[in-house]
Amino acid sequence: MDEAEFYPEGALVAVLTCEPLDRTLDYKAPAGGITRGAFVEVPLGPRRVLGCVWGPGEGGFDLSKARPVSAVLDVAPMREEMRQFLEKTAAYTLTPMPAMLRLATRAPGLMNPPSMRKVYRRGEGRVPRETDARRRVIGTLEEYGGLSFTLRELSDLAGVTSSVIRGMLPSGAVIEEDTPRDLPYRRLDAEAPGKALTGAQEAAAAALREAVAAEAYSTTLLKGVTGSGKTEVYLEAVAQALRRGRQALVLLPEIALTAEFLARFQERFGARPAEWHSGVTMTERRRLWKMVGEGGAEVVIGARSALFLPFRNLGLIVVDEEHDTSYKQEDGVLYNARDMAVLRASLCSAAVVLASATPSLETWANVEAGKYRRLDLESRFGPAVMPDMHALDMRAEKLPGNRFISEALANAVRKRMALGEQSLLFLNRRGYAPVTICRACGYQIACDHCDARMVEHRFLKRLMCHQCGATKPMPEACPSCGVEGRLAAVGPGVERLAEEVAERFPEAKCAVLSSDLFSTARALKEQIQLIAEGDTDIVIGTQLVAKGHNFPNLTLVGVIDADLGLQGSDLRAAERTFQLMRQVAGRAGRSEKRGVALLQTYQPDHPVIRAIIAGDEEGFWRAEAAERRAAGVPPYGRMAGIILSGPDLAVVNDVALHLTRVAGPLQRIGAQLFGPAPAPIARVRGRHRVRLLVKAEKGAALQVGVADWLRQVKLPNAVRLQIDIDPQSF
Ligand code: ADP
Ligand code: ZN
Repeated sequence: MDEAEFYPEGALVAVLTCEPLDRTLDYKAPAGGITRGAFVEVPLGPRRVLGCVWGPGEGGFDLSKARPVSAVLDVAPMREEMRQFLEKTAAYTLTPMPAMLRLATRAPGLMNPPSMRKVYRRGEGRVPRETDARRRVIGTLEEYGGLSFTLRELSDLAGVTSSVIRGMLPSGAVIEEDTPRDLPYRRLDAEAPGKALTGAQEAAAAALREAVAAEAYSTTLLKGVTGSGKTEVYLEAVAQALRRGRQALVLLPEIALTAEFLARFQERFGARPAEWHSGVTMTERRRLWKMVGEGGAEVVIGARSALFLPFRNLGLIVVDEEHDTSYKQEDGVLYNARDMAVLRASLCSAAVVLASATPSLETWANVEAGKYRRLDLESRFGPAVMPDMHALDMRAEKLPGNRFISEALANAVRKRMALGEQSLLFLNRRGYAPVTICRACGYQIACDHCDARMVEHRFLKRLMCHQCGATKPMPEACPSCGVEGRLAAVGPGVERLAEEVAERFPEAKCAVLSSDLFSTARALKEQIQLIAEGDTDIVIGTQLVAKGHNFPNLTLVGVIDADLGLQGSDLRAAERTFQLMRQVAGRAGRSEKRGVALLQTYQPDHPVIRAIIAGDEEGFWRAEAAERRAAGVPPYGRMAGIILSGPDLAVVNDVALHLTRVAGPLQRIGAQLFGPAPAPIARVRGRHRVRLLVKAEKGAALQVGVADWLRQVKLPNAVRLQIDIDPQSF
């Protein structure tokens, strides 16, 4: 990279701030001058705000009136490559630059010189007895999108005493996690020998080593069933990056996976990599952010936002479980970390490895089109093979309404227990029951703020909205008709399933793995560890267990409701169900013992269910691709979702209708407009949501058309507009 531009003392510099302004602001460079990319604090009205020196100032006004930069932060300036990454991501996702800057600086807390403290937005009413101080705490937590803090950090940020926060702890609103004391950035040993690879593994590893050594952009799909050794293989790519003195980033979809991964990593390289995710404290994040910029952190494993770390010399990005939907950020800047990883790598001449047992159709299409390379690991490592898969036809079962485990599945579980092996019962539904209905009047308890039913969580003794997180106590009487004692749970959630298991297998040791049952990442890690060590007979879990955990003694997977994901009109439903079922089934039989996967279904003849059972992946993808191509939807066409929301539905609808009348710019790019229609979730947190969908051909200038189109409306104050390029559901 060439030398950064330098602006001498007193020169005008354009500063991009994190404030929602649509342009940069001019300030005077401080004594000693300043380089482009430097992070600064600048005065804005009565406040000081965070900014980044973006270029030479434009002037054109009375120079003597330009205010000076207040302070230069003691962190490395933003590199040119990062700036380009932010600009391209902004252009792709149609996000204003200030929001991008926020994304890149918020997590490490650069945004918080003490002078920036302010009172934040109102909380969600999750906390009992709201006081001003408590509201500030909740506001701060919201502002930081679910990141974790130590007591000290949070009390500093929110400007409250720590006793305020302590008083809130029992409500579950504040999470306290320790900072790891032993600091991880010891040098990793690239030459430490890995496991002896099989022929297929070695071939794949060699190809990846070569891709990394090329120090040029490339993307490779590393495809192999769960347990085939993908991780083992991409660790070789990491070793290669280390040898070349380049940094590596490994993205994982679920932070619960990091514990297992860290242990393997430590074993391979003799030290831990750096971790970046919401469970890492602010102090630690700030330190890591700096280290990454200085090249001191060689390997980072993290959640999607790790893509925005200021790597000095990034040579490899691994996206593990690349098909995972959690790579799509659904809040704030809507980006897909898998796609942005490819963009980032192309800007810094790095290799990308997309690892998956069940790649996304997007990636599959890119392989077909020759844009990505594909490496296959055909079989599981060692004697392990994919489990036998069978459908259990539930139409023949006469289960009472409070039972969900068929006799056939129960017998299979008993057999495993007799053998001293583990079973997993999978149900992708948190809580006790998805619906609570009044048997007297038929009323179903719904969220006060969202268009969603409240889900009973019996362990917490509360009803919870899975859209907004609001909870309320389980009432004695029906909120609608007032009759007492007639409220009934309908349908299964994992907690209810656990109840049935306890009843039917009283001698079994059970563990429930569901994200809401663990308030800290550590508690979850410990539970997973216990299961892996074999201390459990029956694991009952949500999709948390589907992802990458290695339970060697687990030989039976029972899917309680294989049809669950096939309901609804989402065009991606088939793909998701296929991926999830294959992945869950892959939890069985990961060592010498052959596994079995039993899928309870009411539609054993559904083409997706049949493809899952047959394991006919290529056939499934081809059929799915043909359908999407015919419909002109992603990945064979482009889409953008526009979600308008506001407290008053009539006002929101007005804006939406107005937008349909000024759709000229969309016609110019040959795009079609659908809607307005209620968004998939029509009301969230008291805001009505209406969606418009734009569909265009693959080569169309979608972002240009959408931007030109939306520029024509001025939104009423209460209405918010969110642009979702490549939406997850359509
Ligand atoms: P995947 O990432 O495809 O699910 P992993 O890399 O996790 O597969 O491998 C599955 C298990 O097999 C792990 O416990 C791993 O350590 C082991 N394994 C894979 N390849 C080898 C090998 N060549 N030698 C020894 N153990 C291996
Ligand atoms: Zn709600």
